[in-house]
Amino acid sequence: MEAANIQGSQQLNAYDFIVIGSGPAGRRAAVQAAKIGKSVLVVEKGRRVGGVSVHTGTIPSKTLRETVLNLTGYRERGFYGRAYRVKQDIAANDLTARLQMTLTHEVDVLEHQFARNGVKTMLGTARFLDTHKIEVTAPQGDTHVIEAEKFLISVGTRPHRPDNIPFNGASVLDSDEMIELTHLPRSLTVIGAGVIGVEYATIFSALDVAVTLIDPQPNFLSFVDHEIIEDLTHQMRDRGMILRLGAKVDKIEMEGDWPVAVLADGRRARSQMVLFTGGRDGATDTINLAACGLTADARGRLKVDPKTFQTEVPNIYAAGDVIGFPSLASTSMEQGRVAACHAFGIPMPPPPEFFPYGIYSVPEISMVGMTESEVRERGIHYECGIARFRETSRGHIMGLNSGMMKLIFSLKTRRLLGAHIVGEGATELVHIGQAVLNLKGTLDYFIENTFNYPTLAEAYKIAALDAWNRMPRH
Ligand SMILES: Cc1cc2nc3c(=O)[nH]c(=O)nc-3n(C[C@H](O)[C@H](O)[C@H](O)COP(=O)(O)OP(=O)(O)OC[C@H]3O[C@@H](n4cnc5c(N)ncnc54)[C@H](O)[C@@H]3O)c2cc1C
Repeated sequence: MEAANIQGSQQLNAYDFIVIGSGPAGRRAAVQAAKIGKSVLVVEKGRRVGGVSVHTGTIPSKTLRETVLNLTGYRERGFYGRAYRVKQDIAANDLTARLQMTLTHEVDVLEHQFARNGVKTMLGTARFLDTHKIEVTAPQGDTHVIEAEKFLISVGTRPHRPDNIPFNGASVLDSDEMIELTHLPRSLTVIGAGVIGVEYATIFSALDVAVTLIDPQPNFLSFVDHEIIEDLTHQMRDRGMILRLGAKVDKIEMEGDWPVAVLADGRRARSQMVLFTGGRDGATDTINLAACGLTADARGRLKVDPKTFQTEVPNIYAAGDVIGFPSLASTSMEQGRVAACHAFGIPMPPPPEFFPYGIYSVPEISMVGMTESEVRERGIHYECGIARFRETSRGHIMGLNSGMMKLIFSLKTRRLLGAHIVGEGATELVHIGQAVLNLKGTLDYFIENTFNYPTLAEAYKIAALDAWNRMPRH
């Protein structure tokens, strides 16, 4: 493994900008600063650059999802029935082979991007010595002291591992371990119905693994529009998934090799494997925050100015999952870019009001703007329009018998307030809604414009017409 692109005598001891952590926030910040002529060093403690996003989070889970959907023939089951499979016996190595190819490609692209832009990288664990100095301990144990004018802390998160869960790396796993499976379980209990839990639960259910999903809250993914969750819940139950909501896990017992999740209400979920996805903690414990005058909260997260990503120490910025919500690769990249621009005095326009949220469950979900509950809480008079994918010709061609889009419009201004989608292509389709929303477009955009035919994007027109039918005529 190539340890770093700076070594020994070539090494600078001072940079304009040091980025700690090479995930989406660090990557984008480093390239942005390099593009305006700054000397930049990225320090990464993992074996290769890319962060959680490339190695254990976004890209692995999305590659796994795509592989599962392809090998199972899941997308074709509308035509050929639930028993249809492209590959009969799917094993763990069928899933990991494709993962390795994707990851290698991602890392190559990133290393090339750093090299092209003159960003230096160094493998090792960084810790602050003071506000302008860090010490990097390389994997072989040698240390380097390096100075910089400005810093970005983009160290991300690691899975939260509570004491009452007996993680063993084999049958009780966290989400980082899930991508290293050596065999596929016949049954799986997922504890935690957040985004990661719901994604993995539905991906394994698509593989015909018997899945139980447990969460202490009675409602899961409560930031998503309720009708979208109702649709998802219906599809999950229809596939035979067991949902144990409003049920806290007291402990996990072992029955032979099989873990059993024991719930506070006395129920038990026995399965071949347990995946615990109860949140993630900021990975700030290795960077010696005290030396630079910063403190993290109880979950290891840092506080920043939400517009500039500057911490309380003016030359130190923080971005990405280490600052908390929304904890997405997509938003982390943008935060990194904004932080680098602010650090070096590049004026930035204010960010758009709304960003999209993508949940790569099976079926996938995406949303932008306000949910119906938020619109109601704000007292806005509104109307909704619904389109079902089975109403579109593209849906017929694809054999879709599920999938829906919900658009919410203001009755007063006719402006689009929110777009919510569950079903095939949701995470791509949402960007049309995002553009209209951020450009302050109205219902009339969808009514008056022609959409390619046959496409799922036609659902925008159908949903808008559905709302229009119930709206007062002006
Ligand atoms: C299973 C899963 C699925 C996800 N799916 C999606 C998705 O579909 N879409 C989406 O937008 N987001 C998704 N996310 C979230 C996304 O991965 C994160 O938002 C993103 O990775 C955060 O980027 P980051 O820049 O904060 O750093 P990270 O990607 O978390 O990387 C931080 C890096 O810092 C390094 N580091 C830590 N401490 C030190 C130190 N002391 N010195 C040097 N280096 C250090 C770490 O080794 C790591 O490589 C998912 C996350 C998970 C876990």
